[in-house]
Amino acid sequence: MSVKQIDKEYVANTYNRFDVQIVSGKGSLVYDENGKRYIDMGSGIGVTSFGIADDVWTAAVTAQLSQVQHMSNLYYTEPCARLAKLLCEKTGMKKVFFANSGAEANECAIKVARKYAAEKKGAEYSTVITLVNSFHGRTLTTLAATGQDHFHKLFQPLTPGFVHTPANDTEALIKLARENKTAAIMIECVQGEGGVMSLDKDFVKAIADFAKKEDIILIVDEVQTGNGRTGELYAYMNYGIEPDVVSTAKGIGGGLPLGAALLSDKVQNVLGYGDHGSTFGGNPVCCAGAVSIIERLTPEFLSEVKEKSRAVFAALEGAEGIDSVSGMGLMIGIKTAKPAGEVLKKCMENGVLCLTAKDKVRLLPALNIPMYVLMEAVEVIKNACK
Ligand SMILES: *Cc1c(COP(=O)(O)O)cnc(C)c1O
Repeated sequence: MSVKQIDKEYVANTYNRFDVQIVSGKGSLVYDENGKRYIDMGSGIGVTSFGIADDVWTAAVTAQLSQVQHMSNLYYTEPCARLAKLLCEKTGMKKVFFANSGAEANECAIKVARKYAAEKKGAEYSTVITLVNSFHGRTLTTLAATGQDHFHKLFQPLTPGFVHTPANDTEALIKLARENKTAAIMIECVQGEGGVMSLDKDFVKAIADFAKKEDIILIVDEVQTGNGRTGELYAYMNYGIEPDVVSTAKGIGGGLPLGAALLSDKVQNVLGYGDHGSTFGGNPVCCAGAVSIIERLTPEFLSEVKEKSRAVFAALEGAEGIDSVSGMGLMIGIKTAKPAGEVLKKCMENGVLCLTAKDKVRLLPALNIPMYVLMEAVEVIKNACK
């Protein structure tokens, strides 16, 4: 039996895989079972920040792997401590809780907000406001947070206490916050799964001001937008706001599972001993890899991300068969005249792997993709859109 046949028979049916088996890669190039070369414009859904088998990341991970691979959170290990310090120094946040995924990072963020509100205002202040079209994860609580009904239907009852309001409508959000006993507002600055939609600056600023004034916890979900993806270390930095909690995952680990909830001064001591935990969270191997990623997201490197972004927008905007281009940094959505699936298929035939988000083609290349490789992929995408 081929790998594809075994997978089809034994792996749960939750993923509609492309008919490609990836066997190796380096940087932004990957190779399938027939040796065909592809430019990877998805980077494992924004995970392999420095591409496949990046030398610096691999060295950091393997060095830690041969020292200590896991000790549990009962003991101190160096990579976990170093990564937490690095993240706090680069963001001004005060403490970090480590988890293994985006959904778990969000679970932590929500627990922090609810406990803060319960202690400050009373346990009935539990409502979390999120946006229509958002995506926050697949656990029953983060599904409840996700403002897309089609994910909810067959999994009721979800965790109560979540309400949704349209993006970019400040009045509606404030009204909802006043109608409910609100613990938190949770947003993605650029909605990823929702179709690579950047929130309006005025809206984000206004709700951040409102949250601060009302002592409502502002959670920014940076699972997809974080770790250099938008050309800033975290996307909220494009908006000039100061969130109370930042959740992140995907690109922070460079390819190993790692999530983090960054806690500001106001909430740094909300969680105490026994309030939350994770067996694998802060795993030394994952954290060693993450240190090697975050250390390299310097202002100079991030300005290169912005430069690549400008080049992609310039090449795609107004091109034949392309209705619009959205997003920020190297998180880019393309509204195509043809169905996105058709464009993806054509790109794959011509050696470029892309993603979709709703009805758009979505690009999340490795942040260090060389400009000439990026432009080669963009040409293939442009031709596929015609
Ligand atoms: C992917 C994603 C999640 C879920 O992350 P997992 O690691 O799959 O649990 C949550 N929020 C956003 C914005 C995401 O893009």
